[in-house]
This record gives sequence, C-alpha cells and structure tokens, in this order.
Amino acid sequence: MQKGQIGVTTENIFPVIKKFLYSDNEIFLRELVANAIDATQKLKTLASFGEFKGELGDMRVEVKVDKDAGTLTVTDHGIGMTADDVNKYINQIAFSGAEEFVNKYKDNANSIIGHFGLGFYSAFMVSKRVEIRTLSYKDGAEAVRWDCDGSPEYTMEPCDKSTRGTEITLWIDDDNKEYLEQSRIDMLLKKYCRFLPVPVVSGKEQEWKDGKYEDTDRDKVINSTEPAWTRKPADLTDEDYRNFYHELYPGQEDPLFWIHLNVDYPFNLTGILYFPKIKSNLDIRKDRIQLYCNQVFVTDSVEGVVPEFMMLLQGVIDSPDIPLNVSRSYLQSDRAVKKISGYITKKVASRLEDLFKADRSDFESKWDDIKIFIEYGMLTDEKFCDAALKFTLLRDTEGKYFTLDEYKTLVEASQTDKDGNVVYIYATDPVEQYSYIEAANAKGYNVLLMNGQLDGHFISMLENKLEKTTFVRVDSNVADNLVVKEERKDSGLSADQISLLTSIFRSQLPKLEKCEFMVSFESLDPAASPVLITQNEYMRRMKDMAATQ
Ligand code: ADP
Repeated sequence: MQKGQIGVTTENIFPVIKKFLYSDNEIFLRELVANAIDATQKLKTLASFGEFKGELGDMRVEVKVDKDAGTLTVTDHGIGMTADDVNKYINQIAFSGAEEFVNKYKDNANSIIGHFGLGFYSAFMVSKRVEIRTLSYKDGAEAVRWDCDGSPEYTMEPCDKSTRGTEITLWIDDDNKEYLEQSRIDMLLKKYCRFLPVPVVSGKEQEWKDGKYEDTDRDKVINSTEPAWTRKPADLTDEDYRNFYHELYPGQEDPLFWIHLNVDYPFNLTGILYFPKIKSNLDIRKDRIQLYCNQVFVTDSVEGVVPEFMMLLQGVIDSPDIPLNVSRSYLQSDRAVKKISGYITKKVASRLEDLFKADRSDFESKWDDIKIFIEYGMLTDEKFCDAALKFTLLRDTEGKYFTLDEYKTLVEASQTDKDGNVVYIYATDPVEQYSYIEAANAKGYNVLLMNGQLDGHFISMLENKLEKTTFVRVDSNVADNLVVKEERKDSGLSADQISLLTSIFRSQLPKLEKCEFMVSFESLDPAASPVLITQNEYMRRMKDMAATQ
C-alpha cells in the first residue's frame, strides 16, 4: 500500500476549500460528472483512432445515491487511471492547482464568478471521505483504489475492480445530507447535465400506480445528448428550433426567430440565440441566456460575456474558451471575452439584415416586437448601431414602415425647414394627438409614430447620426413653422381678441413648470382646427428625457 502526503504545502487545504466554496458547493456534482464524461469521450476518441481496440460496451455514466450508506457514487466506463495516472493527476497536479487557486482568491471571495470548478476535489466540499476505484483501459492495467478522508494524507493500493473506468464514491458529510436525496440530485443533474453528450442515468423511471408514483426497473436517463446547438443548421427544421426553445423555456410563446452561432476561429463558440416576444414594457430580464462549456451548464448570468442589450435574448452559448474560474471584473476585461461579445453582436446584426432583405413584409410584421431590442442595442453599442441603421424601420401613424433612407426620400421635399434641416414630425399618442396628426397630414406632412419606451432617447440618437435631421413632436410649435409653400391663413381675430382667448385657454391648461403651452389662432386652417395649442419643443423634450432617465 502506498501512503503519501498530497502535494501541497499548505497544512490542510480542505477546510479552506469547504469554507470558501460553501455557498456554491452544489457544483461538485457537475465537476465529477463532467470528468466522467471527459473520460468517456477520451476513450471513444482513442477507439476512433484505432488506439483502443476493445469493446466500448455500455458507456453510460451513472450517479447513484445510497442513503443508508450515506454515499453518492459517480461511475463511468471511460479511460480509467493507472496508479501512475492517479499520482500525476490526482496527487500532484490537481491538488497543487487547488492550492494556487485558493491562494489567489481567498481574499477576494466575493468577486469570484461563483460558477467555476475546482475539478475533482470539489468533492471535498460536501464529503468527509472520498474514494476512487479505477481501472485503466490500458492492456494489463491493474485496478487502483485511492482513499482520502479530507486530510492531506491519502492511501493508494491495488484493488479488485474488474470493469474498465472509474468509480468515485463520496461519503457525504453531516452538513450536506441533502445530497443523499434522489430528488435533489435529480434537480442538480437537470440543471447542469441535461445536455451532456453521453447518457447520464440516475435513479429509476417512475410510473403512476395505485394512486402514487412508483419506481420501475428502467434506469432514468437525465439528458438529451444531442441538443440542437450541437447539430448542423442544415439538419434542423424550424420545428426543431422551436421545440428546443420550449425545452429550454417551458410555457413561453414561440420565439420570433433565432440565430444559430457557429465559429471555430479565433475562438470556439456554438449556440442558438432566440428573439422572444418582448412585451411593450421594457422587461430586461437578465440571466436568460444560458452559458455552457462543452455542453456542461455553467451559468445563466452572462453579464460581461454578451453585450448588455443581448440580455433581452434567450438561448444557449457554448464555448470552451470563456474563462470561468476568474472574477467578474477580470471576465469583463478579458480579450477573448471581448472578441466573443463583438462576434455575437456582429452576427446578430447581420442575421437581422438577412431577415430584412429576405422577406421585408415578414420583418415588418415582427418589427413592433423587436423594435425595443434594436433600439436598446443601437443606443448602447456603437458597432451594432452602425450596422442596424440599414434595417431600422420607422413607422408612420398610418402603419406604414420605412427604412431611414426611404423615409428621408419621402419627406425631404415637403418637410425641410428654412435652415435646410429635414424635419421628422412624430406623434407619441395617436389618440390624444389625433387632431394635430390630421392637421399635419392635411398639410401634406407625414407623421411618425414614436410611442415606444426608448423612443425619446432613440430620437436624440438619430438626430446625432443622421445629418441635418431634426425631430419635432406633432403638437409642438415647431411642427407648424416649416417652410411650406402655402399661404398662411389669417384667423381674422384682433390682437385684443387673441390675447383674451389665449388667457381663457391658458386658464384651462395644466400648469407645467418651465414648459408653457402656446396657444395660437392663426396658423391652421380655421375650418379644420381653429385653435392650436402647442408646447415648446425643446423644453418639452428636456422634460421627457428627464422622465425616462
Ligand atoms: P480537470 O478535469 O480540470 O483536469 P480535475 O481535478 O477534475 O481537473 O481532474 C484532474 C485529472 O484527473 C483529469 O484531468 C483527469 O486526467 C483525471 N480524472 C479525473 N476524473 C477522472 C475520471 N473519472 N476518469 C479518468 N480520469 C479522471
């Protein structure tokens, strides 16, 4: 029997690991299952290169709870380990890696992303003792048993394991008895392992019998091994994409459309992003996109990995290149992550442009649902903004949609003011501003509908982006001051009459701080609207902006 001291200089690393990771200790299971999957995949790869000629046999990974014995066991039929391997990977490298990790972060616990893995020794977060029994795939290999009770001392000896692969048994400690409940384990496996590439079984399928659920003798498979994002877009139908969406987010309406991401240079990334129906209220529900690393769930908190406005999307991103065992601030400044974020932005913009070009009327029909996303993106991301100027639509009060270029062409001739600015007139409330819209239309002006939650900011942004363009609200004083080639009609009222009528109207209007209403009787055709009440455009806009800050 070999006895040894685990290769660490710290007297005992386990109390540190335990304390340090306490809040997130459930990830031990993900780490162990991920190792089991790796070992399985490695053997399959060796077999495909002809370096393993034996029978692969049943390659399922099993997670077994034995409440009476107080143990949880993860078993695989992968490559296994020789005694040398255990020395190298478990006794040396693994533990020294943990020490380095803990030293680096022990003063900085709060900034840790919280979803990282410490690999194999995460097991010690929840166990008082861990045993490995393993038999390597190599010809003539001898099975090894390794045992460690949480002190830096371990024992290692030959054992009688006859099946290839590794079996890791955890004696769950008293503080973590929850991990001896099959239901808790099921929940964790569903969270972290539901899309792993090798079948994972745990517990038994249940059947409704005699008024209650009972175990059958069929093993319960936790995962679907080929989730949509790992397949080729050409092999997937719209139905497949929709089904996958509902698998991720049960009970939600169909998504509007989706983007299949697939890149292998300069980083690896796959995934599917869905555009959900975003309700008119700006509900930026974060944590909707799920981040995976080689099909292992990592987190659904993707701030820093995708641009802020993408948080309105849903779906899956899978990348082995996103560093996970680092703090959030590091993640945000990481160059690989920045590249990933830039790539996703570009891809989303070009997909939107494709959709727009391929089927304009379909794009228009979805516009009202995606508008808030696009506006948010344009307001917060310069690059996205420049790309989106091509497919951004403006909608007028009659429900017609125009690109920015089209709209300019439409109104340029009749809506240019004396300084040469093209004036875009817009309404924010088509019911309340009905008579103004009518009046503007009667003059041959087009009126845009800008009643979205971000439209105030969006308008300012467009004014900056588009040359010589100003926006004015249909009920503002400016809308009526456009240079038009028609004669202004006189109301025929005397100055006294105007002053009297103005004070009568003013007395009925709400008092607004620094934003007076203007009343005029001469500007519009008296037959249509004899009185026009307007607000100073500049002051009004300042107020609106302040209100939506
Ligand atoms: P990581 O998985 O990040 O390399 P771990 O601490 O989880 O770190 O594991 C260290 C090494 O131990 C692995 O790289 C692998 O070589 C070996 N190992 C762990 N679990 C298994 C297993 N179930 N089968 C075979 N080898 C394993």
